[in-house]
Amino acid sequence: MPFSLLKYGLGAKRKQVLPPTPPLKDSYDIVVIGGGGHGLATAYYLAKRYGAQNVAVLEKGWLASGNTARNTTIIRSNYLTSGAIQFFKKSVELYQGLSNDLGYNIMFSPRGHLTLAHSDAAMRTSRWRAEQNKLNGVRSEVIGRKEVAELCPQLNMSEDIRYPVLGALYHADGATARHDAVAWGYAKRASEMGVEIHTQTEVVGMDLNGNKVDKIHTNRGTIKVGKVVQCVAGASLKVAEMAGIKLPIRALPLQACVSEPVKPLLDPIIVSGSLAVYISQSARGEFVMGGEIDPYPGATSRSSTEIKEEMMGPMLELFPFLANMKLLRQWGGIADVTDDYSPIMGLSPVDDYFLSAGWGTLGFKAIPAGGYAMADAVATGKTPDLIKTFSLERFSDMSLVGERAAAAVGH
Ligand SMILES: Cc1cc2nc3c(=O)[nH]c(=O)nc-3n(C[C@H](O)[C@H](O)[C@H](O)COP(=O)(O)OP(=O)(O)OC[C@H]3O[C@@H](n4cnc5c(N)ncnc54)[C@H](O)[C@@H]3O)c2cc1C
Repeated sequence: MPFSLLKYGLGAKRKQVLPPTPPLKDSYDIVVIGGGGHGLATAYYLAKRYGAQNVAVLEKGWLASGNTARNTTIIRSNYLTSGAIQFFKKSVELYQGLSNDLGYNIMFSPRGHLTLAHSDAAMRTSRWRAEQNKLNGVRSEVIGRKEVAELCPQLNMSEDIRYPVLGALYHADGATARHDAVAWGYAKRASEMGVEIHTQTEVVGMDLNGNKVDKIHTNRGTIKVGKVVQCVAGASLKVAEMAGIKLPIRALPLQACVSEPVKPLLDPIIVSGSLAVYISQSARGEFVMGGEIDPYPGATSRSSTEIKEEMMGPMLELFPFLANMKLLRQWGGIADVTDDYSPIMGLSPVDDYFLSAGWGTLGFKAIPAGGYAMADAVATGKTPDLIKTFSLERFSDMSLVGERAAAAVGH
């Protein structure tokens, strides 16, 4: 066995998933900035649904090197406002068929999602969310202590702890998927349809001609552009500024960690908004854990001891068996957070410049519907109904999409 492994490592020709980065052309009809999930999905749906040609994705690092391959992969649609619920419902539906659509295994794993309630106020919010979800056709219900214990026997249901579990919001469609497989699946299929994917290609400046971006400067040269789609998450402020756009976004670190792997024992995804922690078990057997965004702005993706301590206190109360386990890795990403915890999508004040930003703590689950809707916006020049609620204008016409209660820790 070790010999055959060695032979494979040294000699065997491995199949490339993607062709190597090609030379940059002088001009492209559509340039997507950012090779994370949103940029790649947008390019894929542009090519697939609209036959778009002469499209380039520019990524400053490697594919999914931003938040897409740093996230904890929670997929769900149990938000609070109708517009957001409809959007995320579409995304969950696309996820359910994505492995087949792409012909690429994204390891989609339906789990069920429990948002624990530890107080009467949290039970009330759960009921509010459940009713909103049901009205919008999403499976969501409030369950009591007995049902919580049945769905998650590992949970500490003692009444003699600091925050006993009173019940939960149960969302049967909660799921996880393999994050880098989602990015690579979209990239592979987009590339097969002619989309050029340029890694190690950083956008460093833009020239405007009137109210339109005419040229993009990169570390590999300057290109003339038709339409531009910005999908750069933590770098949203910086890149939008190059086009002269000021975004109501803050860049805040968000951290997560995983334990050593063990055999499968935790099926559902468990979230406690009140205790600001969540946990699921990955296909590899690791417990994937995270919490709230850091309370201070930052540009580093390193993790910190105090956040780990804050997270582990309540986590051990909920799952005492974790005390016997080791942490394997911890890391962070830079989340692009808006004040109403909803994204900014669609047209921008600059002609032919499209925004997919403000994904904050919740954008992994949005990748399929985000790419789908952004492709519509770019191809037609109109904001599709699915994302009207997420327009940039909402910050000036007082129509914010208040999702903080359903989005912050739940991801
Ligand atoms: C710790 C953590 C946990 C999370 N957990 C969840 C979760 O459970 N569920 C969920 O739905 N969401 C979660 N999220 C949020 C989710 O990961 C993001 O919202 C989502 O991945 C954003 O995707 P994106 O494609 O917009 O951005 P990214 O994946 O960050 O991609 C943007 C890309 O743009 C590139 N870029 C930046 N600047 C430039 C430039 N100047 N030129 C060229 N390229 C550039 C970056 O290198 C990057 O690859 C989590 C995030 C973090 C950090």
